[in-house]
This record gives sequence, structure tokens and C-alpha cells, in this order.
Amino acid sequence: ESRKEEFNTFCFYESNMNESVVEQFQLISDLRKSIERRELKMVYQPQVDILKNKTVGAEALIRWENRDRGFVSPTRFIPIAEKKGLMTPIGEWVLRNSCNQLENWKENNLRETTMAINISGVQFNDKRLLPLIRNIFYNKVDTSLIELEITESAFVDDIDLSIKTMYGLKDMGFKLAIDDFGTGFSSLSYLKRFPIDKLKIDKSFIENILDEQGNIAIVKSILNLAQNLDLKVIAEGVETVEQRDFIKNLGCPLIQGFYYSRPLDAKEFILFHNDKINK
Ligand code: C2E
Ligand code: MG
Ligand code: MG
Ligand code: MG
Repeated sequence: ESRKEEFNTFCFYESNMNESVVEQFQLISDLRKSIERRELKMVYQPQVDILKNKTVGAEALIRWENRDRGFVSPTRFIPIAEKKGLMTPIGEWVLRNSCNQLENWKENNLRETTMAINISGVQFNDKRLLPLIRNIFYNKVDTSLIELEITESAFVDDIDLSIKTMYGLKDMGFKLAIDDFGTGFSSLSYLKRFPIDKLKIDKSFIENILDEQGNIAIVKSILNLAQNLDLKVIAEGVETVEQRDFIKNLGCPLIQGFYYSRPLDAKEFILFHNDKINK
């Protein structure tokens, strides 16, 4: 950020973002109002076991629909919310909401369905995370049904502290997944030390898998790595039958993607879950 630029142009841009400070300020102000008006909601994208042809879980994803702005993508508002301190209340709301939803699944006979919840970098590195999570989930739901998704970028600051936090979560029974795997730079030697359960292959590798040798090689090596480290693995962003078949032939057992389903609201998810998958 440059003060000088701010005076010169008022509407200056920060190096890592495409939005001006003014735009970010307005976005945060609208987001605050939407939180008060309870306009945030969660949707659930099915995760399918392709051998059993069965929905085994869902990823909980936040949605923000504002009366003036319409739909705002989380890829746009989350980085700004993180920077402006709004991700703490939003993250807490996501956790509480997910806990209630898991109780609701149980009442609807979805007793083994797992729920993946995204934990932002700021949230993961917040000292209050462990007590907060204990407070929300303790004695309420079976925490082994919950998979907390963390991206590699959350780890950069202090690896030992990150590992300690991961163990804190594991001690409470949660499963841990590394999201967008392959896009960060966590070294493989660290991976061995992480008490994680699953890798999520980033969708950028799946997108062109049919015509990019490089992506085929990357996906193959992630599958190998997962097998050798005894981790589960899921491919994200599978949109077509060709991609599904290709990934299946490489031996990937789990898939999340528009091919099976877009993220669904809570009611739709239960219906989808109870339907036979004929694909
Ligand atoms: P992510 O955690 O990697 O989530 C997967 C994203 O890929 C979702 O985008 C999902 O809708 C999208 N996706 C799934 N299948 C396909 C497909 O076949 N094709 C394509 N093109 N996209 C697919 P979404 O919901 O827009 O979320 C984007 C990112 O925002 C998430 O990436 C996650 O990093 C973040 N996010 C979303 N909800 C939350 C949340 O509740 N908390 C936190 N901390 N982050 C969240
Ligand atoms: Mg995720
Ligand atoms: Mg991802
Ligand atoms: Mg992502």
C-alpha cells in the first residue's frame, strides 16, 4: 500500500487484489449488513464414492446473496473478509451452522454422511479456534463425521504451531483434509508430519486432464502419494463423464464435482443423498 498513491488517485489498488480500497470498504459494509440480516447461507455439494455409486458426504460452502449485489462469490469476499477481520464471526457462524445441519442429517437418517467444512487461514491461525470448536461441537455431534479442510497456504507461518493445532483438532476426533492440494508449496517432508486424513486434488488439475500430459502426471502422483502415505483422496471439479471415467481409471475413489451435482441447499441435498445415483 502506498499513502502517496492514495492521495494522488484516492482509488488505488493493492498488489494482491483487483479491488480498490473503496470497493473493498463497501463490500465489507454490505457484508456486515447481510450478517445482521442473516442473509448468509450454506449449501452442500455431494461427495460420491464412485465404486459404490453412493453419496458419502458433502462439502459445506458459504453463499452470500445481497439484495443490491446479487450473488457474490466466496472467492471474492472471503479474502477481503479475512483482511478486514470479518472472517472470525463468519467462520464461527459457519461452524455453528454446520453443527446444526449435522444434527439435522442425523434426524433425517443420514447417520454416516460426512461433512467437510472449510477453515480459512486466519481462522486456522487464531488461538481461539480450538476452544471455539470444542465449545460448538462438544457432546453434540460425532466429530469423526466432520472433515476440516485447510489449504496449504494456512501453514506457511509457523509449521510446528500448525502441526500442534492439527493435533488439537485430531484429539477432538475431527478428520483433516488438505484442500486444493498441489497448488500450494508445502513440501512433501512436511506432509509426512501432518496428522491429516485426506488430500483434495485441486480442480485446476482436473479441468484439462484429458488433454494435458502434465496434469495427468500430477494427478497420478497425488494418487500415488495418497496411497503410500495411507491417506484418502478425492478429486474436485469433475464436470464431464469423460473426466469422471478418466479419473476413475486412474484409481481415484471419491469425486466431488458438477458432473454429479452442484452445491445444493439443505433440503435438496437430503433428496439427492437418498436418490440412487444412475451415473
Ligand atoms: P473450495 O473449498 O476448494 O471449494 C470447492 C469450490 O469448487 C466451490 O466453489 C465449488 O462450488 C466449486 N466446484 C465444485 N465442483 C466444481 C466443478 O465441477 N466445476 C467447477 N468449475 N467448480 C466446482 P465456491 O463455493 O465458489 O467456493 C470457492 C472457495 O471459497 C472454496 O474453495 C473455499 O476456499 C472458499 N469457501 C467457500 N465456502 C467457505 C466457507 O464456508 N468457509 C471458508 N473459510 N471458505 C469457504
Ligand atoms: Mg474446500
Ligand atoms: Mg478445493
Ligand atoms: Mg479453493
